[in-house]
Amino acid sequence: MAPLLHLHRISSPLFSKSKLHTTLNQFPQKILNLSPTKKPTQTPQISSISTVSSTAHLDLAIPEETHLEIPLEKLFVPPEVDISDGFEALSARVLKGSNIVLSSYARDAQIKEAEFVKSSTKTEDCPSDGLPEFALVGRSNVGKSSLLNSMVRRKRLALTSKKPGKTQCINHFRINDSWYLVDLPGYGYAAAPQELRTDWAKFTKDYFLNRSSLVSVFLLIDASIPAKKIDLEYASWLGQNEIPMTLIFTKCDKRKKKKNGGKRPEENVEDFQHLIREHFQAVPPWIMTSSVTNQGRDQMLLHMAQLRNYWLKH
Ligand code: GDP
Repeated sequence: MAPLLHLHRISSPLFSKSKLHTTLNQFPQKILNLSPTKKPTQTPQISSISTVSSTAHLDLAIPEETHLEIPLEKLFVPPEVDISDGFEALSARVLKGSNIVLSSYARDAQIKEAEFVKSSTKTEDCPSDGLPEFALVGRSNVGKSSLLNSMVRRKRLALTSKKPGKTQCINHFRINDSWYLVDLPGYGYAAAPQELRTDWAKFTKDYFLNRSSLVSVFLLIDASIPAKKIDLEYASWLGQNEIPMTLIFTKCDKRKKKKNGGKRPEENVEDFQHLIREHFQAVPPWIMTSSVTNQGRDQMLLHMAQLRNYWLKH
């Protein structure tokens, strides 16, 4: 049985936005350039969305990386990351395939145990032990079940709400007896009757607004297709309501042929962020993932760990 923790929620998305904003403004115009040979450019464009990882001290092996350029103002820099060491030090701490700088809070990232706890139809019925939690949500077919299973590395673990009777519920899974992964109903499922769809929206919004132990929503977006209106609306709503959000781009292994008019996943990733920018005071963290190649899995776990450990301490 996990010890009862007395926790409080941080006041605004992820970490304190004002703190984050101040941090970023200290180097307003500079570009992070993770390529040792390439000079910083003047145009703040993401030319290649992949980054380095320097997590040798952690127990997760992340492949060595190639190259990246992300403007500093588009990075997610957690509080208490010392930026006074300069760009080189900061750039070495950006998680591969994301805009997230790693902090010293990224400990105990691995999932060792996962168990289903309960399905709730109302926020009040959710577990009341105060353990920190992350809610995964996305359009039906975005790849949520596949991602959950890839995260726990156990294909047959019922880390999915697809079971009959659980599709309209808030499903809690306790991880390592110390935090929760929460599977929320998919939205935008055309075949669902309108009243059901409205109900889902109502109860998930209530959950987002009132769940005090929610550390961050992980909003899943399919990066193999252009941004969908419903996803943009969902992200904007979270931004407007200051609900902490991390964008998880799925299916990043799918490469569209340019000549057929399709965009590459990294282009869709950039477009999506551009379209929601006005609704956020600071850039949301984002990670590119694939359940086929397991890209982004370790990065998600490290990001969850650092958010969780920071949240527990404050
Ligand atoms: P859910 O409805 O959000 O739970 O989506 P599923 O996990 O059931 O996935 C929907 C479809 O997308 C299935 O056909 C999966 O095989 C496929 N899919 C899921 N994740 C990936 C991925 O990372 N890459 C590719 N290429 N296909 C994926």
